[in-house]
Amino acid sequence: MNLIFLGPPGAGKGTQAQRLCWDYDVAQISTGDLLRSNISKGTPIGVEADKYIHQGNLVPDELIIGMIKDELKYTLAGGFLLDGFPRTVPQAEALDIVLKEMNFKIDAVLVLDVLSDEIVARLTARRTCPTCGKSYHLIFNPPAKEGLCDIEGSTLYQRKDDNEETVKHRQEIYENQTKPIIKYYEKQNLVHKINGLGKLDDVYYLIKNLLQKIVK
Ligand code: ADP
Ligand code: ADP
Repeated sequence: MNLIFLGPPGAGKGTQAQRLCWDYDVAQISTGDLLRSNISKGTPIGVEADKYIHQGNLVPDELIIGMIKDELKYTLAGGFLLDGFPRTVPQAEALDIVLKEMNFKIDAVLVLDVLSDEIVARLTARRTCPTCGKSYHLIFNPPAKEGLCDIEGSTLYQRKDDNEETVKHRQEIYENQTKPIIKYYEKQNLVHKINGLGKLDDVYYLIKNLLQKIVK
């Protein structure tokens, strides 16, 4: 099963992707997590990317495509779920070339729809595990033990780009730079829209129902 998750920041892509990966045993590839891992290790990619992420802007395509190519080659074979990539049309085109070279195809592009006010409420109370990248919400999806990741036990932190001002800027970036990808994939008949506004379990149920129908 090869899927792409699209949707504005805070739509629930990472949360739903992680659950699907456990259930279907496929690899989750999140460019956001890869970039944050590069930043915390202080790699050249991380140093460059930090300047953009900090301001809520997209990291340049060349850097993202270079970083993801290696990752894809290692993980594609057993099925994959892309979360946060592609985010621009040039990235989608680059992905198509890599997939063609390796004889893989995308089964579906799932677009999670969520309204703007909900996004701000979700992201300003998001807390993230520094070790595994899992995200929680102070009210809607709290960890079992306050402030600690259920899986790693690490102390959760608030991402610097999860403040109201940067979140609003990231939403604009999504509208202008990422949304055009939906049309790109509509031409390939791959797009399925999902209402992401329900409770976490309800959204997951919608996704699983859909996948049963479209992925053989
Ligand atoms: P994305 O990867 O799309 O940016 P996340 O999966 O990190 O989004 O979710 C953003 C925030 O919203 C997190 O705090 C998460 O716990 C919370 N969240 C995710 N799905 C839902 C939902 N259906 N209802 C309420 N909160 C949610
Ligand atoms: P979100 O919660 O907004 O979905 P992510 O963790 O996916 O957050 O991404 C965080 C930031 O990392 C983005 O705002 C952007 O600066 C950068 N980033 C992640 N993926 C990409 C990508 N595919 N192209 C460009 N920038 C990216």
